[in-house]
Amino acid sequence: DSFDTFGLSPQLLPGLQALGYTTPTPIQSQALPVILQGQDLIAQAPTGSGKTAAFGLGLLQQIDLAQVSTQALVICPTRELADQVARQLRTLGTGLSNLKISLLCGGMALEPQLASLEHDPHVVVGTPGRLQELLVKRALHLARLRVLVLDEADRMLDMGFEEAIRDIVKRTPATRQGLLFSATFPEPIRVLAQAFLKTPLELSA
Ligand code: AMP
Repeated sequence: DSFDTFGLSPQLLPGLQALGYTTPTPIQSQALPVILQGQDLIAQAPTGSGKTAAFGLGLLQQIDLAQVSTQALVICPTRELADQVARQLRTLGTGLSNLKISLLCGGMALEPQLASLEHDPHVVVGTPGRLQELLVKRALHLARLRVLVLDEADRMLDMGFEEAIRDIVKRTPATRQGLLFSATFPEPIRVLAQAFLKTPLELSA
């Protein structure tokens, strides 16, 4: 098995090389074709499964670098996870010239985040409270969003972020693709998925 079979754009290959990934993990093999087709997805994928590169490659492939607009948003439960995701996306995007990724989390100074949004970044990674705050301030613009990812959705619900997530989701275009990743699937996750995803493909790895 190799990454050659997915029809990834050549600009994503330097990023895979930089990370040293040669063989896709099971979640990557299953999820990438679905994501690249534009279909919604609900995936049971724990930490360590390679889920970050699965949605990372899928969303980076769909970015139009010529458009100065936020086209992908990844919502994470904690600043540490958001930081890891942003770093992995930056490495995967090594071959995409002028790709702009902003990290927007609570517990970080607001001013540099506002400055990073003056020219809309192609990709935003952040935590629910700060993302919501920046939306309310009209600093973060999601009218051109193509892909919305909920990462570790079960942890986000455990941490009490359901209202913030629902509010953020409400501010995204109905046409965007939705991807939900979670280690577990208790009933509240199913309910959230139903509100957020359109006829999603379900998989587990
Ligand atoms: P994640 O589940 O996204 O947190 O990734 C878990 C770990 O697997 C990370 O340390 C990644 O660097 C690594 N990883 C992800 N995809 C691959 C791959 N295709 N080949 C080798 N390592 C990978």
